[in-house]
Amino acid sequence: MGHFSSEGVPSTRDIRALPKLDLHCHLDGAVRTATLFELALEGEVPLPASSEEELKGLVRAPASCSSLREFLRTFEIFYPILKLPGAMRRVASELIEDAASDGVVHVEVRFCPELQAGPDMSAEEVLEEVIDGLRSASELASVSWGIILCCYRTLSPAINERMVDLALAFAGRGVVAVDLAGPEDHAGHELAPALQRARASGLPVTVHAGEAAGPPSILEAIDELGACRLGHAVALREDEELSTRVAAAGIALECCLTSNLLTGAVSGLDSHPFDALRRAGHLVTLNTDDPSVCGTTLTDEYLLAARTWGYEMSELRDLSSAAVEAAFLDDETRARLRSLVRQA
Ligand SMILES: [Zn+2]
Repeated sequence: MGHFSSEGVPSTRDIRALPKLDLHCHLDGAVRTATLFELALEGEVPLPASSEEELKGLVRAPASCSSLREFLRTFEIFYPILKLPGAMRRVASELIEDAASDGVVHVEVRFCPELQAGPDMSAEEVLEEVIDGLRSASELASVSWGIILCCYRTLSPAINERMVDLALAFAGRGVVAVDLAGPEDHAGHELAPALQRARASGLPVTVHAGEAAGPPSILEAIDELGACRLGHAVALREDEELSTRVAAAGIALECCLTSNLLTGAVSGLDSHPFDALRRAGHLVTLNTDDPSVCGTTLTDEYLLAARTWGYEMSELRDLSSAAVEAAFLDDETRARLRSLVRQA
C-alpha cells in the first residue's frame, strides 16, 4: 500500500496530464451517445429513446447491472446504428479525439468487424473505415494506435477463422493482435486452431478470461489459446499457483476497474485483486474496457486506483510504464513512449 505523501492524492488534472496508454478499449463500447443519437436520426434507425438523454440511460450499464451477460446486452442497441455506412469511420475518429483530450498517448482499440458488417458493407470495408478514421484523426492529435481484432466465443468457428484471416491481411496496416471476447461460459477451445494460426504468423493473442468465469478459463487462455495478455483475469485471486505461473511467464494483465464493478466480477474495489497482483510482480495495466458503457475515462480509472490504494503520482507513472511494456508495439514506438512517460 502506497502511503500518502504531502502532495496528497493525485489530482484529476495531474493524472490527465500523465501520458497514458489504453490497451483494452472496445470501439463499440466507446461511442459517444450524442454521436449514436445523431447517426440513428440521419440513418433513420428506430431508437428506443426519443432524446439523447434518454438514450444515455439505455446505453450506459446500470449500476445495478450484476452480470457480464446483462452488461453485454447493453451493446445490442449499438449494432444497427454502427452498421450504417460511415458510422465506424466517425466513431473511430472520435475515439482518437477523446483519447487526446484525456491524455492518452496510445490506444489499442478492439472490435469485431463482423458485427458491423451487413448487406451494405463487408467486414473488410468496416475495418477499412475504422483504419481511415483512426489514421485521419491521429494526424491531428498526438495519439498513436493499434487495432486488435476480436474473435467472439458466441460466433461460429468459421466466422472466427475469417476474423483471423482479416487480421493477418491487415497486419502491418494497423492490426497488431487478435483477441477473444464474449461470454466466458462458452469455452474457447474450438477456436484454438484459428488463434494458433494467428500466432504462427506473428500476431499475438490476448484473451478475455477470469472475468465471469474462474481460474479454468485462465488456464484455457494460456495453455490452449496461447494468450500472451489476459483481459481482466480477476479470478487469479482464487488460485495462487496459477497466479505465480502467470506472473513468471510475464503475461500482462489488462485490468478494468469500473467495468469489473459493473459486471459483478468483483463486489467492490476492496475485493479487487489489482493491488495484490501488482505487488506480487504481475505486469498490471489499467484500462477503460468500454468508456461510454461504463461512463468512465482512463483518467477516472487512474484516479479510482489512486483513491482506493493510495497511489502517488510516481506509482501511477509506473502503471503507465508497465502499459508501455505490455503494449503490442514496434520497437521504435515503444522507445518513444517509454521516454515520453519517463519524462512526465
Ligand atoms: Zn473487454
